[in-house]
Amino acid sequence: TRTQDEEDLPHATKKTMADHLRKYESLFTLTPQRMRMITEAFSETLDLGLKKPDQTVPMIPTYVFGWPTGDELGDYLALDLGGTNLRVCLVSLQGSGKFEITQTKYRLTEEQKQDDGEKLFDFCAECLQTFILTNMGSVSEPGEERKENEAVPEALLKPGQELPLGFTFSYPCDQERIDHGKLIRWTKGFGALRTEGRDVADMFRKSIEKINLPVKLTALINDTTGTLIASHYVNPRTKIAVIFGTGCNAAYMDRVGDIEKINHLGIDPDAEMVINCEWGAFDSFHHEHLPRTKYDQVVDETSNKPEEQAFEKLISGRYLGEILRLVICELIDEGVLFLGQNTYKLEKPYCFDTAFLSLMESDPTDELLMVIGIFTHFFALETTLAERQFFRALARLVGRRAARLSSCGIAAIVSKMGYLEEGCSVGADGSLYNKYPGFADRVHEGLVDIFGDKGRNIVTHHAEDGSGVGSAIIAAMTKKRKDAGTY
Ligand code: BGC
Ligand code: MG
Repeated sequence: TRTQDEEDLPHATKKTMADHLRKYESLFTLTPQRMRMITEAFSETLDLGLKKPDQTVPMIPTYVFGWPTGDELGDYLALDLGGTNLRVCLVSLQGSGKFEITQTKYRLTEEQKQDDGEKLFDFCAECLQTFILTNMGSVSEPGEERKENEAVPEALLKPGQELPLGFTFSYPCDQERIDHGKLIRWTKGFGALRTEGRDVADMFRKSIEKINLPVKLTALINDTTGTLIASHYVNPRTKIAVIFGTGCNAAYMDRVGDIEKINHLGIDPDAEMVINCEWGAFDSFHHEHLPRTKYDQVVDETSNKPEEQAFEKLISGRYLGEILRLVICELIDEGVLFLGQNTYKLEKPYCFDTAFLSLMESDPTDELLMVIGIFTHFFALETTLAERQFFRALARLVGRRAARLSSCGIAAIVSKMGYLEEGCSVGADGSLYNKYPGFADRVHEGLVDIFGDKGRNIVTHHAEDGSGVGSAIIAAMTKKRKDAGTY
């Protein structure tokens, strides 16, 4: 039976949409068995990264030693250069896992992401300056008292004193010390020139010096590392941190003696150090383990970094909308969808935001009114209910696959570290984890598919702000080690 709106336009019928859906179901669905195979290969890859330098999944030693005590104290600045925003934070650590935070976000333009790296860091330093001036302004009048509960530190007021800064730089960097890091490669669509292969901490330090900021960069931190430490600060059962945002990655704590590739450094083998896995690179170049559809291949080939970040490209928020868009475009080309309508708006790469997938999946109405809204408002396209149900089902397939692949990554760390029996908490953050409906449940379901009932011992929770608070805690831990004269 055809509904009213199906008679107005030459739309695809319910039956043809159902036929197409079956094809995509088989392309995007991961069986438990396949997930266990991926997990095993993943685990081996993680081990290899610890053994040898320069591996595809680099398992980066971060020089963040051990867990925080919860009693770290003091005022710290944090600058967070992530995938989408630039954020400056002032964090006041108050002990017993408590803190206050003041922050400002700045938007990065596409040009800034591709322009000269030096200019990018100059811009970061300028934002830092604006932030300091703004937040000093309110208390800098002589004689004026600091307001209660205001996270502006006294230290800012004392002439000649430098405020310690944690720099959260969420890209893979090879580190030799905590305040150093050579950019291995840009990810998440960044491509700033003359930056790969260089020490980004040093580049940023130069930008800070140029404008004489009263700031000392003491630690270069990956967002996952910050998330691990911040989550453990408030919940000591946390053993793993994951980011599901514009990019995708994980960090965990390992025994120095088990990081074979740094044995020659003579660090106490029983000490513990955070490892930034950079797992988004899993299966890059060789593509042996992950299920890639032809849409994934197009996403890869048309990206600014073909062949790289293979795992991330199947999971992270930067790519999910684009994968779905490519499926829809194929059906447009085949004459199945939108016959007689102008589809040029939908043909623009990356125009279909991953947030649309979240909206489609969470549409509570029978008519799928939110889906109507997306297609009419953003793409000037009319849809039938059958088509809308199809789009929603597609979103479900793409979103579910991303979550289940994420389970494989978490399971690989859990197996490798032997956390399954005693169980552990996984601190998770990022737009996908926080905003995509059902993402966390699907990750948990995936863990049960991989491990059976014991998979329930592994539970993710929304992490503490790693790039701000985590960065400050690490700056405090670093200061403590420096003061004590330890490595
Ligand atoms: C980067 C990681 C980062 C992750 C999440 C990835 O693209 O390589 O360093 O942790 O995104 O932000
Ligand atoms: Mg971030």
